[in-house]
Amino acid sequence: MKTNLLDFDLTGLSAWCLDLGEKRFRAVQLFRWIHQRGLADFSQMTDLAQSLRDKLQLHAQLTALPVISRHDSADGTIKWMFDVGQGNAIETVFIPETDRGTLCISSQAGCAVGCPFCSTGAQGFSRNLSTAEIIAQLWFAEHTLRQERGVDERVISNVVMMGMGEPLQNYAALIPALKIMLDDHGYGLSRRRVTVSTSGVVPMMDRLSLDCPVALAVSLHAPTDALRDHLVPLNLKYPLAELLQSCRDYLAHAPRDFITFEYCMLDGVNDSDEQARQLIALVRPALGELTPCKFNLIPFNPFPASGLLRSSPERVKAFAAILSEAGIVTTIRKTRGDDIAAACGQLAGDIQDRTDVSGRRAKTIRIHA
Ligand code: SAH
Ligand code: SF4
Repeated sequence: MKTNLLDFDLTGLSAWCLDLGEKRFRAVQLFRWIHQRGLADFSQMTDLAQSLRDKLQLHAQLTALPVISRHDSADGTIKWMFDVGQGNAIETVFIPETDRGTLCISSQAGCAVGCPFCSTGAQGFSRNLSTAEIIAQLWFAEHTLRQERGVDERVISNVVMMGMGEPLQNYAALIPALKIMLDDHGYGLSRRRVTVSTSGVVPMMDRLSLDCPVALAVSLHAPTDALRDHLVPLNLKYPLAELLQSCRDYLAHAPRDFITFEYCMLDGVNDSDEQARQLIALVRPALGELTPCKFNLIPFNPFPASGLLRSSPERVKAFAAILSEAGIVTTIRKTRGDDIAAACGQLAGDIQDRTDVSGRRAKTIRIHA
């Protein structure tokens, strides 16, 4: 079996090259060809010795993910669906803005957390992605976009781990992928521009702060344990008090001096004035010290069968105003790419769960014409 070089961060690639009898600087050259230049063909890596290129042909490959479909939104957002085998597909979304280009990356096929407002959660959990499958999304998007635009410089300036899956439930594969994003010989993204979004896997948040402290977004969605147990079932395991403490601890290591709390606005569920006030109390514990945080209110993106409704724009504004008046920076997320079902929580779109005649659960992918 050939080794997929997309699985390695620079430390891993150096160790692998060492096994082949090659020095570390060869690994650096190879890493740069792969991630900075986007090459998959070893014969084109002209500054590598022929003997090394021969070894690479024999033992290694660069396996990208097959594209099932691509959709371009009227607002410039692009959504790719990739085949990850055995009927599973994942989605990756590029969101262009005037001052940046953000790629939203998936970490799992499906998700085991099962939040009732999320279509990925509704799909159930299939499997963890490998490091190669996580980084292949960035590798492919970055180099495809450069080629299409005829530019040599970086197109993607920010990465958010906000696609399908719970990144902190796929920790072992996530860390090398983050390291490749940050590496100056890789994508050279600053820690502030790489965000891990989590539903609150407390022990892994603590580990992330030590292993690879990038920007952190925590999906809060509710001000009380009773409601959060229902909206984010992981709360049963890691309730709010523990989650908030872990957020405060993270700040000691974080590249930004605040935590972003994401809050999906659900009509009549978590969007009342009273709940906004409860949130303020939550982030300002007894002695009055405000946890350094920002709130990002996400108007719920409906999907069939959720049975939930989006809060009205007036409600979202009123809710935001209460938080702002308490001194909490609050933004309302603009929905991007909803005409191609690329908005938050809409990923998983065309993968359908069905039960086949033998009673086994199977997944079918509807491929777009
Ligand atoms: N599993 C991680 C990251 C992926 S979800 C997490 O939960 O944080 C990325 C963000 O989209 C999360 O804040 C999530 O709560 C939000 N989201 C999920 N479904 C949504 C929906 N239908 N409408 C709006 N936001 C949604
Ligand atoms: Fe999983 Fe995040 Fe969706 Fe919850 S919101 S089901 S944690 S992907």
